[in-house]
Amino acid sequence: MLLSLYAIPVIALLALYLRSRAARERSAFQAMEEALAASMTEPPTLHPSIDLTKCIGCRSCVQACPEQHSHAVLGMIRGKARLVGPSNCIGHGACKVACPVDAIELVFGTEKRGIDIPLVKPDFETNVPGIFIAGELGGMGLIRNAVEQGKQAVASISRLDGLGRSDRHDVVIVGAGPAGFAASLGAMQAKLRFVTIEQDTLGGTVAHFPRGKLVMTQPAELPIVGKMKFTETTKEKLLEFWQGVAGKTRLKVNYEERVTGITPASTGAGFTVTTTKSSYETRAVLLTIGRRGTPRQLGVPGEALSKVVYRLIDAEQYRGMKVLVVGGGDSALEAAHSIADQPGTEVILSYRSAAFTRAKPKNRDKVEAYAREGRLRVVLNSSVKEIHEDAVLIEQNGKVARVANDAVIVSAGGILPTGFLKEAGITVETKYGTA
Ligand SMILES: Cc1cc2nc3c(=O)[nH]c(=O)nc-3n(C[C@H](O)[C@H](O)[C@H](O)COP(=O)(O)OP(=O)(O)OC[C@H]3O[C@@H](n4cnc5c(N)ncnc54)[C@H](O)[C@@H]3O)c2cc1C
Ligand code: SF4
Repeated sequence: MLLSLYAIPVIALLALYLRSRAARERSAFQAMEEALAASMTEPPTLHPSIDLTKCIGCRSCVQACPEQHSHAVLGMIRGKARLVGPSNCIGHGACKVACPVDAIELVFGTEKRGIDIPLVKPDFETNVPGIFIAGELGGMGLIRNAVEQGKQAVASISRLDGLGRSDRHDVVIVGAGPAGFAASLGAMQAKLRFVTIEQDTLGGTVAHFPRGKLVMTQPAELPIVGKMKFTETTKEKLLEFWQGVAGKTRLKVNYEERVTGITPASTGAGFTVTTTKSSYETRAVLLTIGRRGTPRQLGVPGEALSKVVYRLIDAEQYRGMKVLVVGGGDSALEAAHSIADQPGTEVILSYRSAAFTRAKPKNRDKVEAYAREGRLRVVLNSSVKEIHEDAVLIEQNGKVARVANDAVIVSAGGILPTGFLKEAGITVETKYGTA
């Protein structure tokens, strides 16, 4: 009698535990299957490599991952921790800290796909004297690290000889993400002669986070303005804060200008930095260009028209418009269905392949449903030939159709910065799952 009094609650608790464990394993397995189906199996940056012989299945890593609330990153499969959503891992590294048995190592790349990491000295200078690298490009992701490195790299640059000449800049800062932004404020504080060049807008990768994304960071010190106190905020609030700082400090950034080359100056130490709009003579270059690369262009006539953009900022701005979205990944599919949700839109999604194999099932299903309901048109095996003010020419199966059009969004991925670094003479090491 007494035994069953204790045994029943224990058995009930055990049954509850086993049920919730099975449910968690099912959802982890599903996340892993989805990642495999969408070929999203490669982590973009630093990520955990889990030694399954050491893992005791305590789930501390799963619970510690700050991204876990919005996507499956880590999950338990057969009682062991696995990286079930590799492409969702952004390298917080909280899992490694949480693991009680040291089963996690943080590594770059995988056996199948290497990641190119430029070699950078502790003062952030590369093997090319005068070219410095800070932020995620150097391998260390996260906003706070980027801010810290941007400041430290500028401190190293301000110790160089040959600064302060009136015929050239002291430093050209390339990129205005967290690293480039902090570096620019640092350069302003150190009274360096500098210019910051950004191909897009302020904020770098942060400006591309999904709307309302919860940003987990750690407080960091920005030059001139002092402490950036955020630990948990939203993308919008963080960008608003940075924009406010840029306004108050009168920081000038050359937006919508892309650096295309860096060559040694004809005489003495220094460089000529070439961009899509101009060229700049400088003593040093600080590359804070992250790892997202430059958006891939279509290379067709009319692409320079202002109606062509490379990312969706706000679907509402396309109300009542005829929009062409080009691409087959998640960002293209998300752009297409979110614009189709706006009243009065006519959306065409053009993709060069026969199926959307590189997108998550959730997005594929939504696009298929919208296409069935006539809310958007999918044109597979197609390519855009020309873009005009009021139309686009799309080729499919050898036939070219002229379609009325008000706006084009190209989501065709990015060109990684490795080639650009190598051309500048910077040594790059390819890591295959090593620290
Ligand atoms: C989905 C996602 C979620 C994340 N969430 C978090 C989070 O919650 N907390 C956190 O701390 N970190 C997070 N991160 C990581 C964080 O965003 C990055 O580590 C950080 O933005 C890196 O800063 P950066 O300045 O080095 O590079 P970036 O932010 O990538 O900025 C680089 C800038 O350089 C510009 N650029 C590139 N090439 C050129 C060129 N040739 N000419 C001119 N400009 C150029 C780019 O346009 C870009 O603006 C997340 C990342 C992703 C992808
Ligand atoms: S924290 Fe370590 S031991 Fe616990 S599940 Fe994760 S990898 Fe395994």
